Amino acid sequence: MSVPAFRPVLDQLPGYRATEGVYDGEPARPLSANESPDEPLPGVLAAVTAAGALAHRYPDPLCTALTRALARRHGVPEEAVLAGAGSVALLQALMTACARPGAEVVFPWRSFELYPPLAQLAGLRPVPVPLADHRNDLDAMADRITSDTRLVLVCNPNNPTGTVVGERALRAFLDRVPPDCQVVLDEAYFEYVRTPDTCSGLTLLGAYPNLAVTRTFSKAYGLAALRVGYLVGAPDVVEALAKVRLAYSVSGVAQEAALASLALEERLRARVDDTVAERTRMRTALLAAGFGVPESHSNFLWLPLGDDAAAFGRHCTAERIAVRTYDGEGVRVSVGSPGDNDAFLACAAAWPSAVYEPV
Ligand SMILES: *Cc1c(COP(=O)(O)O)cnc(C)c1O
Repeated sequence: MSVPAFRPVLDQLPGYRATEGVYDGEPARPLSANESPDEPLPGVLAAVTAAGALAHRYPDPLCTALTRALARRHGVPEEAVLAGAGSVALLQALMTACARPGAEVVFPWRSFELYPPLAQLAGLRPVPVPLADHRNDLDAMADRITSDTRLVLVCNPNNPTGTVVGERALRAFLDRVPPDCQVVLDEAYFEYVRTPDTCSGLTLLGAYPNLAVTRTFSKAYGLAALRVGYLVGAPDVVEALAKVRLAYSVSGVAQEAALASLALEERLRARVDDTVAERTRMRTALLAAGFGVPESHSNFLWLPLGDDAAAFGRHCTAERIAVRTYDGEGVRVSVGSPGDNDAFLACAAAWPSAVYEPV
């Protein structure tokens, strides 16, 4: 018998499963976690070093300078911005803040794998709504909202399928959500969007007070290891979440690195453009090799292989290429360095049964 007796929900949670070869064993080509293949820009490393010299001091618990810079960047009041130790920490804070007996959270599925366990940990009932055509099915999600629904998550672009939802559909959806139900647009990959077919929730905040947007420095900005993301939303939501967020959880190093990165927007944009070009190159090659691959608006591609997913994942692992496998559904591959991408494309071209339905 385990002592102390923990909450039974813990027995239902799988625990985070890292892809083989990424943090242990013989290093694999890292295409499983949607990281930037580029190191932080030189100015950012200098900021990290300078902040490291203050490691004996607690960081600014309010992230004052970063919050101010983000507010300026997005043209919103500082009271509408909250930084956190990764956007996941802010999603967790939101769920914790929303959890009341019987409360539900509606989210798309398949989507970001942390949505269900974060909901269960917070004590919210998860209501996963299947994707339609690899997209968040906003109509079906709106249909599932009840008086118990406290929170709805929209993942745009969606992880792991890379699809976006249209602006018109987004507005129509938001019109259907009751004003006392919080909506969060998870825009972890929005910097990679190059289509006018969608819009950022940041442009809709004025029209929908129950909307919030989360963004992260972990992906396009290349600061995954430092853990910093942020939320933009109504000031009263920010005020509530600031009570849930752990004080000092965003390190001084992370705050300074994020600030320095924000000042290097042009250079960052150029690097993201390179990733977008690689994404197109990879998808074109995969389509030519017979894979069905939905058009991606993120830094990864989705191969909906169904029952072949596990075998294809093993095929990649055997070539020391780390990808994310979703048994029975598909495989997600990050757009990495050109060399790693080439290795993946060669591996995919060698997959014997590469004849799939066009997507
Ligand atoms: C990677 C990712 C995040 C970012 O998490 P951080 O905690 O900011 O590193 C959030 N949402 C989705 C959908 C992601 O894929």
